[in-house]
Amino acid sequence: MKVNVIKDKCIGCGNCVSLTEGVVFDFNDEGLAETIVEEVPADMEETAKDAIDQCPTEAIIEVTEEENK
Ligand code: SF4
Repeated sequence: MKVNVIKDKCIGCGNCVSLTEGVVFDFNDEGLAETIVEEVPADMEETAKDAIDQCPTEAIIEVTEEENK
């Protein structure tokens, strides 16, 4: 599973960073969230999905294999 943060949509609320304990997302220099792993660790996939669902601006997307080619 791969995830991306759409930079223009993120408001830096930090929910995804704290939910995934800084393992999948972290803040960049602009205070916005970004993905810090190429692939979400298997034990973090459910949490990453929660982060997608809970992002207030729907800034997180799951990157499908199709889009990734
Ligand atoms: Fe940005 Fe959404 Fe993460 Fe909040 S939950 S920091 S808006 S990507």
